[in-house]
Amino acid sequence: MVEMKYVPTICPYCGTGCGLNLVVVDEKVVGVEPWKRHPVNEGKLCPKGMFSHEFIHREDRLTKPLIKQPNGEFKEASWEEATDLVAKKLGEIKSENPDNIGFLACARSPNENIYITQKFARKVIGTHNVDHCARICHGPTVAGLARTFGSGAMTNDFKSIEEADVVFIIGSNNMEAHPLFGRRVIRAKKNGAKIIVADPRFTPTAKLADIYMEFRSGGDVALLNAMMKIIIDEGLQDDDFIKNRTKNYQRLKEIVSKYDLKKAAEIAEVNVEKLVEATMLYAKADKAAIVYSLGITEHRHGADNVMSTANLAMLTGNIGRNGTGVNPLRGQNNVQGACDMGALPTDYPGYQKVVDVDATRLIEQNWTCTLNDCAPGLTVVEMIHAAAAGDIKAMYITGEDPVLSDPDTNHVIEAMENLDFLVVQDIFMSETGKYADVVLPAAGWGEQEGTFTNGERRVQLVRKAVNPPGEAKVDWEIMKEIAVKMGADPKQFTYNNAEEIFDEMREITPQYKGMNRERLERPEALHWPCPDENHPGTGLMHVNTFAHPDGMGVFEPAEYIGPSELPDDNYPLILTTTRTLFHYHASMTRRCKTLDNELPTGYVEIHTNDAKKLGILNRELVKVKSRRGEIEIPARVTDDIKEGEINIPMHFAECAANMLTTSKELDPKSKMAELKVCAAVVEKM
Ligand code: SF4
Repeated sequence: MVEMKYVPTICPYCGTGCGLNLVVVDEKVVGVEPWKRHPVNEGKLCPKGMFSHEFIHREDRLTKPLIKQPNGEFKEASWEEATDLVAKKLGEIKSENPDNIGFLACARSPNENIYITQKFARKVIGTHNVDHCARICHGPTVAGLARTFGSGAMTNDFKSIEEADVVFIIGSNNMEAHPLFGRRVIRAKKNGAKIIVADPRFTPTAKLADIYMEFRSGGDVALLNAMMKIIIDEGLQDDDFIKNRTKNYQRLKEIVSKYDLKKAAEIAEVNVEKLVEATMLYAKADKAAIVYSLGITEHRHGADNVMSTANLAMLTGNIGRNGTGVNPLRGQNNVQGACDMGALPTDYPGYQKVVDVDATRLIEQNWTCTLNDCAPGLTVVEMIHAAAAGDIKAMYITGEDPVLSDPDTNHVIEAMENLDFLVVQDIFMSETGKYADVVLPAAGWGEQEGTFTNGERRVQLVRKAVNPPGEAKVDWEIMKEIAVKMGADPKQFTYNNAEEIFDEMREITPQYKGMNRERLERPEALHWPCPDENHPGTGLMHVNTFAHPDGMGVFEPAEYIGPSELPDDNYPLILTTTRTLFHYHASMTRRCKTLDNELPTGYVEIHTNDAKKLGILNRELVKVKSRRGEIEIPARVTDDIKEGEINIPMHFAECAANMLTTSKELDPKSKMAELKVCAAVVEKM
């Protein structure tokens, strides 16, 4: 008899965190059904979520540990052999210096795996060199919003956007990257809200706008400062809010006063009439919300961009009410959770600083150990640079694929090849896995229990539908085996299930303290902060006070700093990179047949006039070069991109956008690389 069941869980892709049901027939996941009354997506899914099951039972899943042989080929090994080797090699390198080892945690994985990854790095190895992909995605959000609001997370919940009178979207194509959030923007518009979109591309989101402002990639601070100058000049600032709830307003006034319309037009190449019109609309609204995504963050001045959005919201009193706020849309399903869990070189779980002696003592008590409590560790890009320089000698990478997703692919490959020892733990052989000494097969989505935290800080249960394939194991079980082989007290790494890890984590994570399995079983789950078991969770933050100790918001004015690389005679175009509706992380969506059929390879978008000058036709194969590399890729000739700019989606290894991007200069406040702007040239082939 056929056995069928529906397993409710959370989509494995973007930070919207939609609920869905996995349809399981005879121990195989055969489809997806939307979760009808799920509070995030209300029974709807985008194509990525709808076909998310298609990668689960792929034949190319990793099912056995692999060890690289002297001839460069991988050979299957037993778990005993593989974990012995990992424990031995990491032990040897640790004995020289624990900080010679670096860890990348997986932001697509449940919180429980991420918590154990950073615990392993800190407790077993003794290093704070642990980070994850938020560094090159929303690292500036954490740094920028923490400085201004005291908490580096989305201020409102998703539903709140429907109450806005004006939605100002800058650097976010949510109709493709976060479609079920985009649906709420459409609903806001139907409710009467006016939509402003600022973007160098006329995206599907921009097509919804009442006012569309095209501007030059990297000109965000100039544009936002000019908006604030107009508001102050016109007397449209919220004086009561500024007086009672903020600090440092005079400094903001001084800085933004330098950004008049002429300067904004020069730097950001924005149409000044539209800029004034959009500013008046935003400033005069009773409830105005700002939405942004990677267009704001992925710059060497990403934190300045983020702080400028926060300054604008505080200037107009648009914080602490539904329909207002600063709403960063997080990229991966659990990138918020990965930050919360302390997969950060500066922070333990719950954003407790590694340099804070009291926080360190608390964690030591809980983990019964002594920790390295002095200096923060290295960030993602710093680890790659250190590996290339020979200062990091081993890396343990779970579920991330820096060879594909990090800037300057050739440099990342050089770093991977320069390591003495590389462990990659993943569900498929990734681009990075090819350079590993040991590849460990991990359980994937639908094959384990745990929690994801979505972009609105909602902590939701993910459930197991089927067993992992072959000998694949859950991340925390693999790390426990290696920890014990390296001499860790087994009691410190022995858990019967993910719930026991969650319970340990919440003991030391103030924002999660009031959450437990029973409370998370409800579809609406809980938003952090949730400090005790009677607390209802916090959808809307900063209602009466900000999260700084004195409760005040802080204006953090920023001066415009241009991109690290600008067009010149040899590389006359600005290259930007983006995400598409049908793809996400290559290892997953490119293995979903339906999604890959929709968009089987990459393309370079180029403006019609630029294409004409170069004699390039739509769909023609062209060469795109930067100072770091070159790729061959089909051209997509369009009017939907600013003249002088080109765009390449980041998903496709065969025409990898990151072969061209730069990691040379990092944002001093967040260590973000300049993924959104570099100089490039397009050539006919
Ligand atoms: Fe999944 Fe995001 Fe699509 Fe929702 S919007 S179904 S979370 S990819």
